[in-house]
Amino acid sequence: MKKTPKKRSQKFDWQKIAKRVDRAIEHRLFKPVSVSILTSFLLFNGFQYLESSVADYREARERKIHNTTIKINLSNLESKFDLSEDQVAEHHIKSGETMSEILSEIGASEQDVSAILAAMKNIFAANKITAGDEITVKYRVKIGYGESKTVKRNAVVNSITISPSAEERVKISRDKNGNYSAKKITIKLARHVSKYFGVIKNSLFEDGVKSGISPNTMMQMIQLYGYDVDFQRDIQDGDKFEMLVESFYDEEGKKIKDGNVIYSSLVLKNNPIEIYSHKVAGRIEYFDGKGNSVRKSLLRTPINGARISSGFGMRRHPVLGYSKMHKGTDFAASTGTPIFAAGDGVITYYGVKGGYGNYTQIRHNSEYSTAYGHASRFNKKFRVGSRVKQGDVVAYVGTTGRSTGPHLHFEVLYKGTQINPAKVKATSGVRLAGKELKSFQAAKAEIDRYRKNVPNQIK
Ligand SMILES: [Zn+2]
Repeated sequence: MKKTPKKRSQKFDWQKIAKRVDRAIEHRLFKPVSVSILTSFLLFNGFQYLESSVADYREARERKIHNTTIKINLSNLESKFDLSEDQVAEHHIKSGETMSEILSEIGASEQDVSAILAAMKNIFAANKITAGDEITVKYRVKIGYGESKTVKRNAVVNSITISPSAEERVKISRDKNGNYSAKKITIKLARHVSKYFGVIKNSLFEDGVKSGISPNTMMQMIQLYGYDVDFQRDIQDGDKFEMLVESFYDEEGKKIKDGNVIYSSLVLKNNPIEIYSHKVAGRIEYFDGKGNSVRKSLLRTPINGARISSGFGMRRHPVLGYSKMHKGTDFAASTGTPIFAAGDGVITYYGVKGGYGNYTQIRHNSEYSTAYGHASRFNKKFRVGSRVKQGDVVAYVGTTGRSTGPHLHFEVLYKGTQINPAKVKATSGVRLAGKELKSFQAAKAEIDRYRKNVPNQIK
């Protein structure tokens, strides 16, 4: 950058003043050397600051020139001109960016911006756009004469396409009369059933995700097995899993999301535990090979990927130091790990409770309740009296209350008294019979056939 003469003379003056100040201080014997070092330091930084603000000013001035209309002496121009050009702007919304900002930047008039926002309003609130959404604006730029002999650049927005998700598009278009209208388009996704297979080396979750199954689907699978499998004790190195999962693909063949688990098999010590999906009364339910529902009244492990650090029974209390009956099960897990409602029910306690710290209690029926202690925080969606479904996240692991480290303290209460969760009768939810059993068996045969004929998904 070229330095202006003005600045150089300023520098000269400053140095003079500084020298004078320096000398004056020297005469008075106030640590002359250190003071002059300090003075030059301040001078150096001052000039750096000055230089950068001059650059800022220039930039601002240049920006202003771009935005103002250009005045041209028309006496030299004989013919009139009017240029137009179609343009497409593709943009990923940045955080904090608004629709009107994007449109104004393109050069859309204020009237058009408000007409576009008004048209959008009923279909898709402009404030619902979030960072990462894709937006495509098609517009026409006109350059020609404006009022009072100036050249003007005008942009007319012809259409805007916003993709708030892979499955929907919002399209706003301009008609011949210059009016804008908006419509929502749902993208048809192609359904495909993929087969995944793997050997457990680290954990079921990790190896499942490694095989190509989405984390969400893996969590769904773990929840389905959560009634019968104690993930800490039952799973060993070399155990296997197989899954058939519905996946949805967009027009370009890109996997957009996973759907339902169609079939799952967890082979523990060569012993397969199979789960089949089947629609009952319009709802996907999961059954073992005989048509017994795998959903039981209460989850034994209301948390994913945790390790039981202390079971139900007598133990030496880690904080109090003496032996005490431990009336629950402790699951060691990192802070923030979601805690699930062990069963459907109503929240009866949601707050701090003595040594339990942040405590949740859920009443499942007239006999059973479950409790969850030491949470770091609650799910803001719920409060006392909220109805929860089995598997809903009610809180997050923490170490509040009388606790030595992040863990979930889980209790099952039978008529108000803590009992050993392992003793809860695993009552099966639904047992298919008659016509329903027949339709399940047909669906199961279909799934088995599919399993044998579909190769493993290669990631
Ligand atoms: Zn405990």
